[in-house]
Amino acid sequence: MDRIKIKDLEVFGRHGVYEEENRLGQKFLVSACLYLDTRRAGLRDSLEDSVNYGEVCHRIAAFFEARACKLIEAAAEALASELLRSFEALRGLTLEIKKPWAPIGLPLSWVSVEIERGWHTAYVALGSNMGDRQSYLGQAVSGLEDNPDIRVEQVSDWMETAPYGVTDQPEFLNGCARISTLLEPEELLAYLNQLEQQAGRERIRRWGPRTLDLDILLYEDRIMERPALTIPHRDMHNREFVLRPLCQIAPGVCHPVLHRTAEQLLQCLVERADSGAGCKEGRNPAGGASCKEDRNPAGGEGCKEDRNPAGGEGEREHG
Ligand code: ADP
Ligand code: MG
Repeated sequence: MDRIKIKDLEVFGRHGVYEEENRLGQKFLVSACLYLDTRRAGLRDSLEDSVNYGEVCHRIAAFFEARACKLIEAAAEALASELLRSFEALRGLTLEIKKPWAPIGLPLSWVSVEIERGWHTAYVALGSNMGDRQSYLGQAVSGLEDNPDIRVEQVSDWMETAPYGVTDQPEFLNGCARISTLLEPEELLAYLNQLEQQAGRERIRRWGPRTLDLDILLYEDRIMERPALTIPHRDMHNREFVLRPLCQIAPGVCHPVLHRTAEQLLQCLVERADSGAGCKEGRNPAGGASCKEDRNPAGGEGCKEDRNPAGGEGEREHG
Protein backbone atom coordinates (compact mmCIF):
# COMPACT_ATOMS: atom_id res chain seq x y z
CA MET A 1 0.00 0.00 0.00
CA ASP A 2 1.14 3.57 -0.65
CA ARG A 3 2.58 5.58 2.23
CA ILE A 4 2.86 9.18 3.36
CA LYS A 5 5.55 9.65 5.99
CA ILE A 6 5.95 12.26 8.69
CA LYS A 7 9.24 12.29 10.55
CA ASP A 8 9.96 13.71 13.99
CA LEU A 9 7.16 16.23 14.29
CA GLU A 10 8.04 18.22 17.41
CA VAL A 11 5.17 18.63 19.84
CA PHE A 12 4.76 19.64 23.46
CA GLY A 13 2.96 17.31 25.83
CA ARG A 14 2.40 16.33 29.44
CA HIS A 15 2.50 12.54 29.19
CA GLY A 16 4.45 10.73 31.87
CA VAL A 17 4.17 8.82 35.12
CA TYR A 18 5.93 11.51 37.17
CA GLU A 19 4.01 14.44 38.57
CA GLU A 20 6.54 16.98 37.25
CA GLU A 21 6.16 15.56 33.75
CA ASN A 22 2.41 16.25 33.93
CA ARG A 23 3.00 19.69 35.43
CA LEU A 24 5.93 21.01 33.40
CA GLY A 25 5.50 19.05 30.19
CA GLN A 26 8.25 18.21 27.71
CA LYS A 27 9.12 17.82 24.07
CA PHE A 28 7.99 14.73 22.13
CA LEU A 29 8.85 13.72 18.58
CA VAL A 30 6.15 11.99 16.58
CA SER A 31 6.74 10.02 13.39
CA ALA A 32 3.95 8.48 11.36
CA CYS A 33 3.71 6.33 8.29
CA LEU A 34 0.21 6.69 6.83
CA TYR A 35 -1.05 3.82 4.67
CA LEU A 36 -3.55 4.71 1.97
CA ASP A 37 -4.14 4.34 -1.72
CA THR A 38 -2.75 7.50 -3.32
CA ARG A 39 -3.37 6.39 -6.92
CA ARG A 40 -6.49 8.49 -7.52
CA ALA A 41 -5.05 11.57 -5.77
CA GLY A 42 -1.87 11.13 -7.79
CA LEU A 43 -3.62 10.85 -11.14
CA ARG A 44 -6.04 13.71 -10.50
CA ASP A 45 -3.66 15.87 -8.49
CA SER A 46 -6.47 16.21 -5.94
CA LEU A 47 -5.96 16.67 -2.22
CA GLU A 48 -9.52 15.54 -1.40
CA ASP A 49 -8.62 12.02 -2.56
CA SER A 50 -5.64 11.84 -0.23
CA VAL A 51 -4.88 12.52 3.42
CA ASN A 52 -3.82 16.09 4.17
CA TYR A 53 -0.57 15.58 6.09
CA GLY A 54 -0.67 19.18 7.32
CA GLU A 55 -4.01 18.47 8.97
CA VAL A 56 -2.63 15.24 10.39
CA CYS A 57 0.28 17.13 11.96
CA HIS A 58 -2.03 19.73 13.52
CA ARG A 59 -4.27 16.93 14.84
CA ILE A 60 -1.25 15.33 16.46
CA ALA A 61 -0.16 18.63 18.04
CA ALA A 62 -3.72 19.31 19.29
CA PHE A 63 -3.93 15.80 20.73
CA PHE A 64 -0.72 16.38 22.70
CA GLU A 65 -2.04 19.73 23.96
CA ALA A 66 -5.32 18.25 25.11
CA ARG A 67 -4.37 14.91 26.64
CA ALA A 68 -2.07 13.76 29.41
CA CYS A 69 -1.49 10.02 29.57
CA LYS A 70 0.81 8.27 32.00
CA LEU A 71 2.26 6.04 29.30
CA ILE A 72 3.38 6.86 25.77
CA GLU A 73 1.84 3.47 24.92
CA ALA A 74 -1.54 4.93 25.89
CA ALA A 75 -0.87 8.17 24.01
CA ALA A 76 0.08 6.20 20.90
CA GLU A 77 -3.00 3.99 21.13
CA ALA A 78 -5.42 6.88 21.56
CA LEU A 79 -3.74 9.01 18.89
CA ALA A 80 -3.74 6.14 16.35
CA SER A 81 -7.49 5.60 16.93
CA GLU A 82 -8.23 9.29 16.59
CA LEU A 83 -6.34 9.60 13.29
CA LEU A 84 -7.82 6.41 11.81
CA ARG A 85 -11.35 7.43 12.76
CA SER A 86 -10.91 10.99 11.47
CA PHE A 87 -9.26 10.60 8.07
CA GLU A 88 -11.52 8.68 5.69
CA ALA A 89 -8.81 7.57 3.26
CA LEU A 90 -6.46 6.31 5.95
CA ARG A 91 -6.42 2.48 6.04
CA GLY A 92 -3.61 2.01 8.52
CA LEU A 93 -0.61 3.64 10.14
CA THR A 94 2.51 3.13 12.11
CA LEU A 95 3.05 5.68 14.82
CA GLU A 96 6.19 6.31 16.81
CA ILE A 97 6.32 8.60 19.81
CA LYS A 98 9.80 9.50 21.00
CA LYS A 99 10.56 10.98 24.36
CA PRO A 100 13.99 12.62 24.19
CA TRP A 101 13.94 13.84 27.78
CA ALA A 102 12.64 10.76 29.53
CA PRO A 103 13.57 11.40 33.19
CA ILE A 104 15.34 8.14 33.96
CA GLY A 105 18.50 9.64 35.47
CA LEU A 106 20.72 8.38 32.64
CA PRO A 107 21.63 9.94 29.32
CA LEU A 108 19.87 8.64 26.21
CA SER A 109 18.98 9.98 22.75
CA TRP A 110 15.35 9.11 23.17
CA VAL A 111 13.03 6.31 24.21
CA SER A 112 10.10 5.51 21.95
CA VAL A 113 7.00 3.40 21.43
CA GLU A 114 6.04 2.36 17.93
CA ILE A 115 2.70 0.77 17.08
CA GLU A 116 0.95 -0.33 13.91
CA ARG A 117 -2.83 -0.07 13.68
CA GLY A 118 -5.40 -0.17 10.92
CA TRP A 119 -8.86 -0.94 9.65
CA HIS A 120 -9.57 -4.64 9.18
CA THR A 121 -12.24 -6.13 6.97
CA ALA A 122 -14.50 -8.66 8.66
CA TYR A 123 -17.74 -10.45 7.85
CA VAL A 124 -20.41 -10.79 10.53
CA ALA A 125 -23.39 -13.16 10.31
CA LEU A 126 -26.67 -11.93 11.79
CA GLY A 127 -29.61 -14.13 12.74
CA SER A 128 -32.87 -13.95 14.68
CA ASN A 129 -35.85 -16.27 15.17
CA MET A 130 -37.73 -14.74 18.09
CA GLY A 131 -40.06 -11.75 18.33
CA ASP A 132 -39.72 -8.94 15.82
CA ARG A 133 -36.82 -10.52 13.94
CA GLN A 134 -36.37 -7.70 11.42
CA SER A 135 -36.23 -5.12 14.17
CA TYR A 136 -33.59 -7.12 16.10
CA LEU A 137 -31.43 -7.37 12.98
CA GLY A 138 -31.92 -3.65 12.24
CA GLN A 139 -30.94 -2.78 15.82
CA ALA A 140 -27.83 -4.92 15.45
CA VAL A 141 -26.77 -3.00 12.34
CA SER A 142 -27.41 0.31 14.17
CA GLY A 143 -25.42 -1.02 17.12
CA LEU A 144 -22.50 -1.79 14.83
CA GLU A 145 -22.75 1.67 13.26
CA ASP A 146 -22.80 3.32 16.70
CA ASN A 147 -19.34 2.01 17.52
CA PRO A 148 -16.66 4.50 16.36
CA ASP A 149 -14.30 1.57 15.80
CA ILE A 150 -16.65 -0.10 13.31
CA ARG A 151 -17.77 1.01 9.87
CA VAL A 152 -20.59 -0.96 8.28
CA GLU A 153 -19.63 -1.21 4.61
CA GLN A 154 -22.37 -3.43 3.21
CA VAL A 155 -25.35 -5.40 4.47
CA SER A 156 -27.06 -8.26 2.62
CA ASP A 157 -30.81 -8.71 2.31
CA TRP A 158 -32.50 -10.43 5.23
CA MET A 159 -33.29 -13.99 4.18
CA GLU A 160 -35.89 -16.36 5.61
CA THR A 161 -34.23 -19.69 6.46
CA ALA A 162 -35.13 -23.01 8.08
CA PRO A 163 -33.65 -23.69 11.55
CA TYR A 164 -30.36 -25.59 11.71
CA GLY A 165 -29.25 -28.14 14.29
CA VAL A 166 -32.35 -27.91 16.48
CA THR A 167 -35.16 -27.96 13.92
CA ASP A 168 -38.26 -27.72 16.18
CA GLN A 169 -38.13 -23.93 16.43
CA PRO A 170 -39.36 -20.95 14.40
CA GLU A 171 -37.87 -19.94 11.06
CA PHE A 172 -34.87 -17.63 11.12
CA LEU A 173 -34.18 -14.33 9.46
CA ASN A 174 -30.53 -14.21 8.47
CA GLY A 175 -28.12 -11.79 6.89
CA CYS A 176 -24.50 -10.84 6.63
CA ALA A 177 -22.54 -7.59 6.95
CA ARG A 178 -19.14 -6.55 5.74
CA ILE A 179 -17.51 -4.22 8.23
CA SER A 180 -14.23 -2.40 8.61
CA THR A 181 -13.06 -2.38 12.17
CA LEU A 182 -10.22 -1.15 14.36
CA LEU A 183 -11.12 -3.81 16.93
CA GLU A 184 -9.12 -7.00 17.31
CA PRO A 185 -11.16 -10.23 16.88
CA GLU A 186 -11.72 -10.83 20.61
CA GLU A 187 -12.72 -7.19 21.11
CA LEU A 188 -15.14 -7.45 18.19
CA LEU A 189 -16.67 -10.64 19.63
CA ALA A 190 -17.08 -8.95 23.03
CA TYR A 191 -18.93 -6.08 21.34
CA LEU A 192 -21.13 -8.49 19.37
CA ASN A 193 -21.97 -10.31 22.61
CA GLN A 194 -22.89 -6.97 24.15
CA LEU A 195 -25.30 -6.28 21.27
CA GLU A 196 -26.79 -9.77 21.70
CA GLN A 197 -27.35 -9.03 25.37
CA GLN A 198 -28.96 -5.69 24.61
CA ALA A 199 -31.38 -7.61 22.37
CA GLY A 200 -32.27 -9.80 25.38
CA ARG A 201 -30.43 -12.86 24.11
CA GLU A 202 -30.48 -15.75 26.55
CA ARG A 203 -28.31 -18.81 26.02
CA ILE A 204 -30.66 -21.56 27.21
CA ARG A 205 -29.87 -24.34 24.78
CA ARG A 206 -27.28 -24.68 22.07
CA TRP A 207 -28.64 -23.69 18.67
CA GLY A 208 -31.95 -22.87 20.37
CA PRO A 209 -34.23 -19.90 19.59
CA ARG A 210 -32.59 -16.51 19.93
CA THR A 211 -33.55 -12.87 19.54
CA LEU A 212 -30.16 -12.13 18.05
CA ASP A 213 -27.11 -14.15 17.06
CA LEU A 214 -24.01 -12.37 15.83
CA ASP A 215 -21.05 -14.44 14.66
CA ILE A 216 -17.71 -13.49 13.16
CA LEU A 217 -17.34 -15.44 9.92
CA LEU A 218 -14.07 -14.05 8.58
CA TYR A 219 -11.57 -11.47 9.82
CA GLU A 220 -9.15 -10.56 7.06
CA ASP A 221 -7.55 -13.91 6.22
CA ARG A 222 -6.72 -14.58 9.84
CA ILE A 223 -6.83 -18.11 11.21
CA MET A 224 -7.16 -18.52 14.95
CA GLU A 225 -8.46 -21.02 17.43
CA ARG A 226 -9.00 -19.84 20.97
CA PRO A 227 -11.31 -21.30 23.62
CA ALA A 228 -14.01 -18.70 22.92
CA LEU A 229 -13.29 -17.77 19.34
CA THR A 230 -12.54 -19.64 16.16
CA ILE A 231 -11.89 -17.76 12.93
CA PRO A 232 -12.96 -18.53 10.27
CA HIS A 233 -16.22 -19.52 11.97
CA ARG A 234 -15.84 -23.27 12.34
CA ASP A 235 -19.20 -24.20 10.84
CA MET A 236 -19.73 -21.52 8.22
CA HIS A 237 -19.10 -23.81 5.25
CA ASN A 238 -21.88 -26.14 6.45
CA ARG A 239 -24.52 -23.44 6.83
CA GLU A 240 -26.50 -22.37 3.82
CA PHE A 241 -28.12 -19.60 5.85
CA VAL A 242 -24.64 -18.13 6.35
CA LEU A 243 -23.26 -18.69 2.85
CA ARG A 244 -26.27 -17.33 0.92
CA PRO A 245 -26.19 -13.83 2.40
CA LEU A 246 -22.38 -13.86 2.39
CA CYS A 247 -22.44 -14.73 -1.33
CA GLN A 248 -24.79 -11.85 -1.99
CA ILE A 249 -22.26 -9.29 -0.74
CA ALA A 250 -18.93 -11.10 -1.23
CA PRO A 251 -19.11 -14.12 -3.54
CA GLY A 252 -15.36 -14.01 -4.15
CA VAL A 253 -14.16 -13.72 -0.55
CA CYS A 254 -11.81 -16.57 0.28
CA HIS A 255 -12.00 -19.02 3.18
CA PRO A 256 -8.36 -19.03 4.32
CA VAL A 257 -8.43 -22.66 5.53
CA LEU A 258 -10.52 -24.32 2.83
CA HIS A 259 -9.12 -22.11 0.06
CA ARG A 260 -12.52 -21.78 -1.54
CA THR A 261 -14.54 -18.68 -2.27
CA ALA A 262 -17.89 -18.18 -0.56
CA GLU A 263 -19.53 -18.97 -3.89
CA GLN A 264 -17.64 -22.25 -4.22
CA LEU A 265 -18.46 -23.24 -0.64
CA LEU A 266 -22.15 -22.61 -1.27
CA GLN A 267 -22.12 -24.61 -4.48
CA CYS A 268 -20.32 -27.42 -2.72
CA LEU A 269 -22.88 -27.39 0.09
CA VAL A 270 -25.82 -27.44 -2.31
CA GLU A 271 -24.25 -30.34 -4.22
CA ARG A 272 -23.77 -32.24 -0.97
CA ALA A 273 -27.39 -31.63 0.02
CA ASP A 274 -28.60 -32.72 -3.43
CA SER A 275 -26.57 -35.92 -3.24
CA GLY A 276 -28.09 -36.65 0.18
CA ALA A 277 -24.73 -36.41 1.98
CA GLY A 278 -26.21 -34.01 4.50
CA CYS A 279 -24.25 -31.42 6.41
CA LYS A 280 -21.47 -32.52 8.67
CA GLU A 281 -20.81 -30.42 11.66
CA GLY A 282 -17.26 -29.84 10.50
CA ARG A 283 -15.49 -29.31 13.81
CA ASN A 284 -12.30 -29.28 11.82
CA PRO A 285 -13.01 -27.15 8.79
CA ALA A 286 -9.98 -28.37 6.90
CA GLY A 287 -10.69 -32.02 7.56
CA GLY A 288 -14.42 -32.32 8.11
CA ALA A 289 -15.97 -31.00 4.96
CA SER A 290 -16.10 -32.55 1.56
CA CYS A 291 -14.89 -29.20 0.17
CA LYS A 292 -11.39 -30.35 0.90
CA GLU A 293 -11.62 -32.60 -2.15
CA ASP A 294 -9.23 -31.45 -4.76
CA ARG A 295 -11.98 -31.17 -7.29
CA ASN A 296 -12.99 -27.56 -7.41
CA PRO A 297 -16.74 -27.36 -6.80
CA ALA A 298 -17.20 -24.26 -8.91
CA GLY A 299 -14.97 -25.52 -11.71
CA GLY A 300 -12.69 -22.52 -11.34
CA GLU A 301 -9.31 -21.90 -9.82
CA GLY A 302 -10.20 -22.00 -6.15
CA CYS A 303 -8.77 -19.21 -4.11
CA LYS A 304 -5.30 -20.12 -3.13
CA GLU A 305 -3.15 -17.66 -1.27
CA ASP A 306 -2.68 -15.68 -4.47
CA ARG A 307 -4.74 -12.71 -3.44
CA ASN A 308 -6.21 -11.29 -0.34
CA PRO A 309 -9.81 -10.27 -1.01
CA ALA A 310 -10.07 -8.52 2.32
CA GLY A 311 -7.09 -6.36 1.51
CA GLY A 312 -5.45 -7.48 4.70
CA GLU A 313 -2.03 -8.35 5.81
CA GLY A 314 -2.13 -12.12 5.67
CA GLU A 315 -1.76 -12.61 9.40
CA ARG A 316 -1.39 -16.11 10.75
CA GLU A 317 -2.08 -16.98 14.34
CA HIS A 318 -2.49 -20.69 13.92
CA GLY A 319 -2.16 -23.36 11.28
P1 ADP B 1 -23.97 -20.43 17.51
O1 ADP B 1 -23.59 -19.06 17.04
O2 ADP B 1 -23.03 -21.51 16.99
O3 ADP B 1 -25.38 -20.76 17.24
P2 ADP B 1 -23.63 -19.30 20.12
O4 ADP B 1 -24.03 -18.00 19.54
O5 ADP B 1 -24.36 -19.72 21.37
O6 ADP B 1 -23.80 -20.47 19.08
O7 ADP B 1 -22.06 -19.24 20.34
C1 ADP B 1 -21.43 -20.17 21.17
C2 ADP B 1 -20.00 -19.69 21.44
O8 ADP B 1 -19.25 -19.73 20.25
C3 ADP B 1 -19.84 -18.27 21.92
O9 ADP B 1 -19.82 -18.19 23.30
C4 ADP B 1 -18.49 -17.84 21.33
O10 ADP B 1 -17.52 -17.62 22.34
C5 ADP B 1 -18.08 -19.00 20.49
N1 ADP B 1 -17.49 -18.65 19.19
C6 ADP B 1 -16.40 -19.28 18.67
N2 ADP B 1 -16.09 -18.77 17.49
C7 ADP B 1 -16.98 -17.78 17.22
C8 ADP B 1 -17.15 -16.87 16.13
N3 ADP B 1 -16.32 -16.90 15.07
N4 ADP B 1 -18.17 -15.98 16.19
C9 ADP B 1 -18.98 -15.96 17.28
N5 ADP B 1 -18.89 -16.79 18.34
C10 ADP B 1 -17.88 -17.70 18.32
MG1 MG C 1 -23.32 -17.11 17.83
